[in-house]
Amino acid sequence: MTKQVYTFGGGVKHDDPRAKDKVITGGKGSNLAEMAGIGLPVPPGFTITTEECVKYLAEGANFSDELRAEVAEALAHIEKSVGKSFGDSTDPLLVSVRSGARVSMPGMMDTVLNLGLNDVTVEGLASTSGDDRFAWDSYRRFIQMYSDVVLGVEHHLFEEALEIAKEDNGYDNDVELTANDWRGLVKQYTAIVERELGKPFPQDPQEQLWGAIQAVFDSWDADRAKVYRRLNDIPGDWGTAVNVQAMVFGNMGDTSATGVAFTRDPATGERAYYGEWLVNAQGEDVVAGIRTPQYLTRAARERAGAKPLSMEEAMPEAYAELAAVFDLLEKHYRDMQDIEFTVQQNKLWMLQTRSGKRTAKAALKMAVDMVEEGLIDEATAIKRVDPMALDQLLHPTLDPKAPRDILGKGLPASPGAASGAIVLDADTAEKRAEMGEAVVLVRVETSPEDIHGMHAAKGILTARGGMTSHAAVVARGMGRPCVSGASGLSIDMKARTLRIGNRELKEGDLITLDGATGEIMAGEVATIEPELAGDFGTLMEWADKHRRMKVRTNAETPADCKMARQFGAEGIGLCRTEHMFFDAGRISAVRQMILAEDEKGRREALAKLLPEQRADFQAIFEVMAGLPVTIRLLDPPLHEFLPHSDAEFAELSDAIGIGVDTLKRRADELHEFNPMLGHRGCRLGITFPEIYEMQARAIFEAACDVAAASGEAIVPEVMIPLVATKRELAILKKVVDQAAAKVFEEKGKTLDYLVGTMIELPRAALMAGEIAEEAKFFSFGTNDLTQTTLGVSRDDAARFLSPYVEKGIYPRDPFVSLDIEGVGQLVQLGAERGRATYADLKLGICGEHGGDPASIAFCEKVGLDYVSASPYRVPIARLAAAQAALA
Ligand code: ADP
Ligand code: MG
Ligand code: MG
Repeated sequence: MTKQVYTFGGGVKHDDPRAKDKVITGGKGSNLAEMAGIGLPVPPGFTITTEECVKYLAEGANFSDELRAEVAEALAHIEKSVGKSFGDSTDPLLVSVRSGARVSMPGMMDTVLNLGLNDVTVEGLASTSGDDRFAWDSYRRFIQMYSDVVLGVEHHLFEEALEIAKEDNGYDNDVELTANDWRGLVKQYTAIVERELGKPFPQDPQEQLWGAIQAVFDSWDADRAKVYRRLNDIPGDWGTAVNVQAMVFGNMGDTSATGVAFTRDPATGERAYYGEWLVNAQGEDVVAGIRTPQYLTRAARERAGAKPLSMEEAMPEAYAELAAVFDLLEKHYRDMQDIEFTVQQNKLWMLQTRSGKRTAKAALKMAVDMVEEGLIDEATAIKRVDPMALDQLLHPTLDPKAPRDILGKGLPASPGAASGAIVLDADTAEKRAEMGEAVVLVRVETSPEDIHGMHAAKGILTARGGMTSHAAVVARGMGRPCVSGASGLSIDMKARTLRIGNRELKEGDLITLDGATGEIMAGEVATIEPELAGDFGTLMEWADKHRRMKVRTNAETPADCKMARQFGAEGIGLCRTEHMFFDAGRISAVRQMILAEDEKGRREALAKLLPEQRADFQAIFEVMAGLPVTIRLLDPPLHEFLPHSDAEFAELSDAIGIGVDTLKRRADELHEFNPMLGHRGCRLGITFPEIYEMQARAIFEAACDVAAASGEAIVPEVMIPLVATKRELAILKKVVDQAAAKVFEEKGKTLDYLVGTMIELPRAALMAGEIAEEAKFFSFGTNDLTQTTLGVSRDDAARFLSPYVEKGIYPRDPFVSLDIEGVGQLVQLGAERGRATYADLKLGICGEHGGDPASIAFCEKVGLDYVSASPYRVPIARLAAAQAALA
């Protein structure tokens, strides 16, 4: 029989590794055993394993004789260590019963303290402690807790009785109640239990103990635990352990106390003890907010200008011992610890330790400091920081001290804070931004036509759309804070006003968005700038040293390219050319090209676009200074560029001298039923090779000019989108090669360049072996590859994907984190087949997934050469790539 109950404290030595294994004894239990093992003062106790919980739940709520025997033996261990007996009428042993899963789980059963008290033992406790009030206060706390969490009697019934007792006696505070008052309340409490349950409060300590053990196990399947597990990806089959531990009392007068502490400041990471404590208090008093807790250290008290003495001042000996324990625990766990302790009559007892939760800023500082202190190595520091948490640090954030006038709330779609004047359409956004005004673009939802306005705005707010809506994805890509799906928001475009909740605002009014929380605020709220040097820079340097994959960025404006380089991008993995086409100055030429009746008409329009495109690429090559740049030729369905309103048709007609009717007829002819699967990607190049020819020419002219001017070697990477067959790529590669040859001849200069393709259709992944005969690189376009593999349109998915994730059909939103099981297979297969044909094939990924840590870990496994992420995700990708390499 495998042991299912492990004792700790009281001098027991463990040779069974299961005792300190979180999986078996849970987080709390294993850490108690660990602390006792290194000689810290831990009240003795025992832990019933998580395995026993799983068995109990599976076998219909039964306890085996073996378990009962093991528990009896373990209880005897506690009795022997403390020299008291459970249920003894003169000097009773009291215990706490605490749940403890593998990870801390707020949904589990609340701790029961002082178990073992009854009408008889309470008198024993009173006489041995010499403190009647303490004994009866402990008893009433026990009845209240046990009845609430084990017996299911609503706790407000007890609180009401307490309130009435206080009122009758004219007391304001719990501490004013005397021993006799508590004695009277205990009578009332037991009467309440009997009335509610139809049977008396259990007097037998054994019955109390088993009732509590059972309640802990049952709480694993309570609704709130299930909800917490679902939200935090915790499997339902882990189970919880039960910890039974001898009580120590922080409520035995002024030489007793209880407290919680962190070994470093969890908010800033500063190396200073941080915590709170209360004299003459028990258990949750510190966090329950009944009394205001006091500062732990003198320095913290003085800084806050608070009066009540710190523990350092009031109990110098116990404090010194505690500080020594902090240092010991940090050395032992090599991490910041979150600690619970109690002082009973000047004697310190440790009740809990675990690695403490911390802000992103603190995580960074602690990781860097601990390497400097020699506590951990660089690899450990890299693994300690959650890459996604860096997001919080890269954007300006709202000053936490500034007041906020909250109007409403939406989804936290893209982090950072933005304040500005409300603008209701993209053109207005651009106009007002050009005048130097900070604006926030507010739309029902956004579309590709709003890009220039989104770019001009400091932040974006939409009434509709989820975390993967157009607004959210584009905003994250641009590093603009965004709050999407603010359902309380309505816009009146005629009156140019909007309503949020019950407040009305008009265009031009100032608002502030917090993209990290989804909060929408009236007026301007002060912000603080991110700190990219310091600890951030140090950790990034270490990450760069330890990673194998390169990190590029998805960017198409010189400003974004610059920013991405500041964030450490080592090239551009995806430079989309269509956003350049939406530019207000060129959209007419683009539309003229699309609506032209024949090649001649198209070439006329393209001739207008050539110098513009060349200038685009020049600027990008200049910023990237010889780093690799992958440029994707035109990709989106043409309808996205077409005029919609009569006014737009009229404007275009004026600009190019073709009648509105003709233009409208052409637009009708171009109508597509399913444009995402229609005339787009390389299909545009196949039917209108002159478009790709113009783009290739612009790329090579720009590259030659910048190379000549700067002396840098520039190796353009020309990428053909949406290829399904080798033949498509072969035809288009020829178009590119011919354009290159012509430019080189004209310039009297040649350059190395690569032609490659995106792998974003399942067929392309399957046929990668053949396609690689024509390609020098593959870039996995996992956004489209996910759409085409799952048969799900990303833009429409917001409506139904969340129930899919809730029901576990997909573990996470497959547009946010790569569907490794499915789409991942195609990536792997494409990589393998491609490399089998051409061993030096460069492989990268350029979907949104290139900035997602789990997807990046997968890319490392498959052996890709680089990942490409939006500028603000570059640091996240650098850290995630290092973690993947170290895993
Ligand atoms: P949680 O996981 O909610 O923190 P805990 O089991 O740690 O629950 O306990 C709740 C409170 O009771 C804490 O303040 C803890 O320190 C205290 N406590 C638990 N066991 C004992 C004990 N044996 N003696 C004194 N206080 C205890
Ligand atoms: Mg605790
Ligand atoms: Mg695509």
